[in-house]
Amino acid sequence: AKAEGKAHAQIFHEELDTEYRYRQRLKAELRACVAAKGLSLAYQPLIDLRTRRVVACEALARWHHAELGTIPPSVFIPIAEETGLISDITRWVLETATRDCRTWPDEVSVSVNVSARDFRIGNVADLVHDALANSGLAAHRLEIEVTETALIEQRDAATKVLGLLAREGIGIALDDFGTGYSSLSYLQALPFTKLKIDRSFVADIATNPRSLKLLSNVAQLGKDIDLIVTAEGVETDAQLDLIEANTGIDQIQGYLFGVPLPRGKVAQIITRMGQ
Ligand code: C2E
Ligand code: CA
Ligand code: CA
Ligand code: CA
Repeated sequence: AKAEGKAHAQIFHEELDTEYRYRQRLKAELRACVAAKGLSLAYQPLIDLRTRRVVACEALARWHHAELGTIPPSVFIPIAEETGLISDITRWVLETATRDCRTWPDEVSVSVNVSARDFRIGNVADLVHDALANSGLAAHRLEIEVTETALIEQRDAATKVLGLLAREGIGIALDDFGTGYSSLSYLQALPFTKLKIDRSFVADIATNPRSLKLLSNVAQLGKDIDLIVTAEGVETDAQLDLIEANTGIDQIQGYLFGVPLPRGKVAQIITRMGQ
């Protein structure tokens, strides 16, 4: 048994070592990719429930690596945050997304994710102003998405910057709402214009009456304080019908209406949906 334990420890050690080397490689490759502007963007439509039109698209970063394949943002965004590369990524996403949005009809906005580390680096307002100036996009067509985690880590910096951007007419969305800790105090203190209810609240509404109640009450909370309310992760017609019949939700985002797509494809969807 002792020898066996030793063998296991050896294997464990090798796995850790491989994992560590893989992460080191990803770090180096990500740096090179960002420098070469090798990331791409996918856009996922947000649909207005009443008009059934596309009202916005969320910009989502994509990394396709020639040898390693597609690396999901859940893997490379944390690496980018850890290394500080996130700032270059955020700059590039803002530049690209605002430029692409200029090619869409006026009533379609674009939303961009900003992370805690961006607020810590402290140049979010500059990045946003540069992107708007370079693209010529109207401020009200840009929306910044922040999660509670970003706010917990960088509350003072985020409050200041988001206040400034909100006064300029830029939309501010609280992303993944319901998954963090003390959401309600953030709603009170920060100039949000939109609440994006996390998809974990949508996932089982068709089978769990309690989930549906929670979703409709969280949505009502958002409506009561004059926020636009979005449900994320809508995947089925059953979920859509329940949301329409039981909640005041304004917009939906999810695979039912569209997966994140390259800009050419998303432009086709915007056109097809009557704009
Ligand atoms: P997020 O901001 O909450 O973005 C929504 C995620 O949900 C996207 O995953 C999207 O593909 C996925 N999604 C959309 N509809 C559905 C659905 O109906 N069902 C399911 N199961 N999933 C759905 P993605 O693109 O893999 O991004 C994951 C996360 O990575 C994002 O979550 C965001 O936190 C982060 N991320 C992506 N791009 C960027 C970026 O440019 N900057 C920053 N800071 N973070 C980013
Ligand atoms: Ca988001
Ligand atoms: Ca989200
Ligand atoms: Ca999320």
